[in-house]
Amino acid sequence: KLENAVSKNCFSFNGHISADLAHEIKNPLTIIRGFIQLIKPDLEQLNKKEIGELLLNEIDRAKSLIEGCLQTSFTVNQKTEEVDLNEFLNEIILLFQVEASKRNISLTQTLTDKPSCPSTYINRNELKQVLINLIKNAMEAIEETKRETEGRISITASNKNDGSVTIQVSDNGKGMDERTAANLFEPFFTTKQDGTGLGLCISRRIINQYNGKLSVKSSYGEGTTFQINLPGSF
Ligand code: ADP
Ligand code: MG
Repeated sequence: KLENAVSKNCFSFNGHISADLAHEIKNPLTIIRGFIQLIKPDLEQLNKKEIGELLLNEIDRAKSLIEGCLQTSFTVNQKTEEVDLNEFLNEIILLFQVEASKRNISLTQTLTDKPSCPSTYINRNELKQVLINLIKNAMEAIEETKRETEGRISITASNKNDGSVTIQVSDNGKGMDERTAANLFEPFFTTKQDGTGLGLCISRRIINQYNGKLSVKSSYGEGTTFQINLPGSF
């Protein structure tokens, strides 16, 4: 039942390309096709540089859409294991350390003072994919603000009293307006020029597979916190 509900909101990954995705891939391809047809008769009279750029953009868009799907279908049905979340987040932060300091963003892991090691059963690669999506989005949201203070992303894992675990990713980026907050988990919804709108849809789907929840709190101009809830492993 959950599976059905999820694939209605997202597209199906089980080796099939859904109508939604096929449609989105068709758009850039149609544009490319139209322009190529147009330049065939008389290349001379057209602005070749602009058209070249446009074609490359559209090709890249199609490419990232397809890559977004492949990436997910490869990781489906991989084995699950107990993952120590503090250790895991530490590894994730290392992945982004260079990129973050290049962009002048402080990326830190906050350890909660509860005397506990939050852990959950999950496929590491899938959880990694979710965190990568969230951190990339956070960095992009920071880059899009004109704020004076330094960019900050903080990540934390903790145990809840009911035995579940949470991971939070907070940024002090641009935050979201109402339209974005209402649509951000929809496939292909993006506010970015070169976005695919697939990151959060895929991330939510992954977390749902483990009976978890991916939710968001954001205030416009202030920042955003994404929260992952998952069953604890104890
Ligand atoms: P993409 O990053 O390709 O646009 P996503 O599914 O990752 O696709 O995100 C969808 C949209 O949600 C983004 O275009 C952006 O408007 C919004 N969003 C996601 N994360 C954040 C964030 N941390 N701060 C502000 N807006 C965000
Ligand atoms: Mg994204």
